[in-house]
Amino acid sequence: MVSAVATQLLNSSPVWLQNCAISAYGWQLRRQRYGGEFHSIHAELERSDRYSTAELAELQARLLRSMLSHAASTVPYYRQQCTLDPARFGSMGAEEMLAAFPVLPKSRLRAMRAQFVAATAVATVDIQTSGSTGSPLKVTTTSAAIRRNYAFFARFLGWHGVSPFDESATFAGRLFSASGRGRNTPWRRNAAMHDTLFSSYNLSDAHIPAYIRELERRQPVFIDSYPSSIYRIASFLKSGGRQHQIHPKVIVTSSETLLDSQRETIEEVFCCPVRDQYGSAEMAGFIAECEHGRYHVAPEYGVVEIVDADGAPVPVGEMGELCLTGLINPAMPLIRYLIGDVGRLSDISCACGRHAPVVESIEGRVDDVIITPSGRHVGRLDPAFKGVTGIRESQILQTARDQVVVRIVSDDRSQVNGTGLISNLSERIGTDVRITIEFVGSIDKEPNGKFRSVKSLLPKTHQVN
Ligand SMILES: [Zn+2]
Repeated sequence: MVSAVATQLLNSSPVWLQNCAISAYGWQLRRQRYGGEFHSIHAELERSDRYSTAELAELQARLLRSMLSHAASTVPYYRQQCTLDPARFGSMGAEEMLAAFPVLPKSRLRAMRAQFVAATAVATVDIQTSGSTGSPLKVTTTSAAIRRNYAFFARFLGWHGVSPFDESATFAGRLFSASGRGRNTPWRRNAAMHDTLFSSYNLSDAHIPAYIRELERRQPVFIDSYPSSIYRIASFLKSGGRQHQIHPKVIVTSSETLLDSQRETIEEVFCCPVRDQYGSAEMAGFIAECEHGRYHVAPEYGVVEIVDADGAPVPVGEMGELCLTGLINPAMPLIRYLIGDVGRLSDISCACGRHAPVVESIEGRVDDVIITPSGRHVGRLDPAFKGVTGIRESQILQTARDQVVVRIVSDDRSQVNGTGLISNLSERIGTDVRITIEFVGSIDKEPNGKFRSVKSLLPKTHQVN
C-alpha cells in the first residue's frame, strides 16, 4: 500500500517523524478497518457466535449460496468452471453446491489472477499477501470486506477479554531501518491503534533488553506476534532467569505454525495464555483458538474442507490439505482454494459451548511437512526436541525424499544430544530417511520475516495441470 520510494524516504527520516507518519497512516487504516459498519458487523458476529449447529449450518448455506451464485454469474473464471446452472443452487445443500466447482490450486490463481475479479466489483482495494513461498499475490477486495475481516479478528480478541483498541504490541515482518537519524530503536508507534510495532528482524541478544524495557514501559494489554518472535524474547528471559514486568492478558499468534514447545515457554514466561489464529490475506478462511485452546472455524467467514491429493474430501479426523471457500469477499471470490496448509477436522464438542466446527490441528504448510519415501506426510516434529538441551534455534530441512538435515544453532554444541535427537526424529519420520545434523551460526528467516521450523525443498504438489 505504501510505495517502495515512500518507504525508503520514511526509513531515512528521524524516528519522531516516522512515528507521526506511521500514526497518520494508522488513522487511515483504522477508518478503513474499524470505521463505518464495523460495529454492526461485530455485533452480528457476537450473536452468531452462540448459534446452534443447525442455525450455523443454515446461515452458512445461505451465505454460500449467495457467494457461489454471484461467482458463477459475475466472475470470468467461475462462469467457465461452474458445472451447474446457478439457478439450481436454491434447492441444494452446501456439499452439493461446492461439488459443482473444481479445487483451485494456488498456482492456478497466481497464473490467472485477473480472471477471479468479479465484473461487478467497484471501489476495490488491492492487498498483497506476504508471499512466504514464491512471489506475493495481489488480492482484490473492498473496504466493506476488510471491515468484516477485522470484525472476525475483534470477535476472536473478545473471546480472550481484549479489544483491538486496547494498548498492544505487534511483532511482525516489518524492517525498521538502522539508518534512521535520532534515537535508533527497532520499533515505531502507531498512536491511532495504541500499538507499538516491533520489528521481528532485530531480535538479537544485543537488542532484546531494549525490547523488554519498551514492553515494560508500554504495558501492552495484548501482544500480537509471529510465534518465533515472542518465543525468542520468552526464551531470552527464561534462559537468564530474568525478572520482568510485562503482563499481557493474552498473546495472540498467527502466520507461522505455533509449536507446542514455543507455546509452553511463552505461557510460562508471560503467565498468560497463547491463542493462535489462522487466517489468510486471500480472505478465504478464519480459524482461531477459543478459551479452551481449540481451533474453531468461523463458519460465517468461510467453508473449510479437508481434501486428499486428488481434491476429494477426506473423512473427519484424517489429515489432508485445507480447501477453503471464502464468504466475505465478493470482489474476488475464491472457491475450494488449496491454500497450501495441512490439517485435520475433528467432531469433538468443545467445552466453550460454541458449535462452530473444530480443526484438530493445523500442521503447517504443505511444504512445511516431511514427505517420506512411502508418501506419508509427517508434520509437528517439535516433540522430537523434547528433552534435548543446548539448542537455541533449529530447522528441519528436507533436501531429498530420503534425506533430512537438522540445522542447529547452539551456544554449546557439547550439550546437544545429537544421537538422541536423530533417534527421536527417526521414530516419527521412519528409518528409510537419512537424518544428519549440521551446526550453523544462524538460520535465515524467509524474505517476509517468518521463520520456518520445517522446510521442504521437494517440488510442490498441485501444479497447474
Ligand atoms: Zn471452543
